[in-house]
Amino acid sequence: MFSAIVIDKNDEGQTVSVQQVDEAALPEGDVTIDVSHSTLNYKDGLAITGRGPVVRKFPMVPGIDLVGTVSESSNPGFAAGDVVVLNGWGVGEGHWGGLSQKARLKGDWLIKLPAGFTGEQAMAVGTAGYTAALCVDALINHGVKPDQGEVLITGATGGVGSVAVALLAKAGFTVVASSGKASEAEYLTKLGATSIIDRADLSAPGKPFQRERWAGVVDSVGSHTLANAIAATKYRGAVAACGLAQGSDLATTVMPFILRGVALLGVDSVNCPIGPRMAAWERLARDLDKDLLALIGSQTIGLAEAIQAAADLIDGKVRGRVVVDVNR
Ligand code: NDP
Repeated sequence: MFSAIVIDKNDEGQTVSVQQVDEAALPEGDVTIDVSHSTLNYKDGLAITGRGPVVRKFPMVPGIDLVGTVSESSNPGFAAGDVVVLNGWGVGEGHWGGLSQKARLKGDWLIKLPAGFTGEQAMAVGTAGYTAALCVDALINHGVKPDQGEVLITGATGGVGSVAVALLAKAGFTVVASSGKASEAEYLTKLGATSIIDRADLSAPGKPFQRERWAGVVDSVGSHTLANAIAATKYRGAVAACGLAQGSDLATTVMPFILRGVALLGVDSVNCPIGPRMAAWERLARDLDKDLLALIGSQTIGLAEAIQAAADLIDGKVRGRVVVDVNR
């Protein structure tokens, strides 16, 4: 038997509790893992509170991220004792996830945790940090280089934005952070931002073709912010778009694409193939300073506390990352 958060649904609605689960109930998969840590993402908050249609079947164990040690494997890529990390793949939505002491998953979804991270640190990075690394890789693989000028990070104090600022600064870029939180200027500077702009400068409808400023952009905000970022991207520059904190709409024209060769690079973390996943985690292990990870901040809580913390997260009462020690 092991402990897990279990979401169930009956005629009266959704129930969530920590339950003792029989190992025989684990879903199909070729790798069984003793989970050490998971984390709480916005999506987990929606799943646990039932405030968003995240869970696709019941009963469900939530948790879209996990790290742990393989206990059994029939997958040739993994053996007992390997420390592995999982992000996405619909885990915690359609397949039992990481807010549990045990998980059984497809080995094809896993990567070995790169040296340099503890399990707790890997979960402080979580899907947000891994998505930031995918965005940075997308820009650099496109050919964006530090000597081409400033790069813009929107939603800069957020989970994705903070790690993107740190990684791009480390890679030698001049980073302009866009944020709505003037009080966080010192934090963003410590992460590596050279200058900070008020997100209000980008969040209202603007001209579809503006003075060229950005060599590259990491956008986790969408809507008018993304449209304005595209409109001011330099000739042959690129915009990595991964989020919708402002909105999922995008009102722009083809002009930046056809007159400046601007590239709009979509970034998805959930079904991203293993190759780019490993590259993103390698960048994080190599370039994300552990002191900066501590500055980005995380609190570690136990499994039972994760239920209330999920509601707090959705209510906007949580700052920084929430790591869950599933054995606490
Ligand atoms: P956070 O909530 O941590 O950060 C989002 C940031 O966006 C906030 O900190 C804030 O930054 C800014 N922001 C919030 N609301 C608005 C608004 N109305 N207008 C403009 N800016 C706003 O979220 P994450 O960083 O974890 O995720 C960011 C986005 O990326 C989300 O939409 C999420 O769904 C998406 N995402 C996508 C993934 C993918 O696979 N494509 C994976 C992970 C996340 P500030 O105060 O500094 O302005």
